[in-house]
Amino acid sequence: MKKISVAIDGHSSCGKSTLAKQIAKHFNYIYLDTGAMYRAVTLFAINQNIINKDDFDKDALIEKLPEINIEFKADENGKVNTYLNNQNVEEAIRTMRVSSFVSPIATVKEVREKMVELQQKMGSKGGVVMDGRDIGTVVLPKAELKVFMTAKDEIRAQRRFDELKEKGIDDTFENVLQNLKERDYIDSTREESPLLKAEDALVLDNSELSRDEQLEILKSWVEERGKL
Ligand code: C5P
Repeated sequence: MKKISVAIDGHSSCGKSTLAKQIAKHFNYIYLDTGAMYRAVTLFAINQNIINKDDFDKDALIEKLPEINIEFKADENGKVNTYLNNQNVEEAIRTMRVSSFVSPIATVKEVREKMVELQQKMGSKGGVVMDGRDIGTVVLPKAELKVFMTAKDEIRAQRRFDELKEKGIDDTFENVLQNLKERDYIDSTREESPLLKAEDALVLDNSELSRDEQLEILKSWVEERGKL
């Protein structure tokens, strides 16, 4: 079977990365979490006081972009972690604080250009699964398989809320739901590469699907496209 490129886009917290990781493992593909890259830029901006709840100094961020180095490295157990300037930030980028600032950061054209260039480099050889918001439309417009994932707001928020609780992160369901709606709104209405379903993307609404069911659906789609 031919190794293809798989682009997974969709709304926040609908399980894109979980599914993308499973599919990459199954087919022995490379998985790239593009959201982690925007999250790492956001952590940098928070640490440098470029963004806080009252202020966002876009020009300062653009000026400091060359200082930002993002890498993915696997640990001894094969778990891939995100590194920002040689520091493992895998946990630090998953907090609600980072989630609440990431969408404004991801509206900045210069930030997107830098991330897209890196992503295209990492995905240039095929056999890759990438998840994000602009993968099928901008990063891998020629991907053999494009998927647009979504699920009902309340269901997505409940899953995210449970996940945070499991990690010991304390927040209310209302906050989680509100953050998710705000991110979807900013991501879908921004000027630069908004979240859109690519014309040739297949829709996967997993509101009523188990993880195993959605995995089986995606596996069959990858197999189909790999035969073409
Ligand atoms: O996928 P994740 O929820 O971790 O992404 C965090 C945020 O990064 C999204 O809400 C979006 O604002 C931004 N993002 C993006 N383009 C991508 C991936 C993520 O704008 N390809």
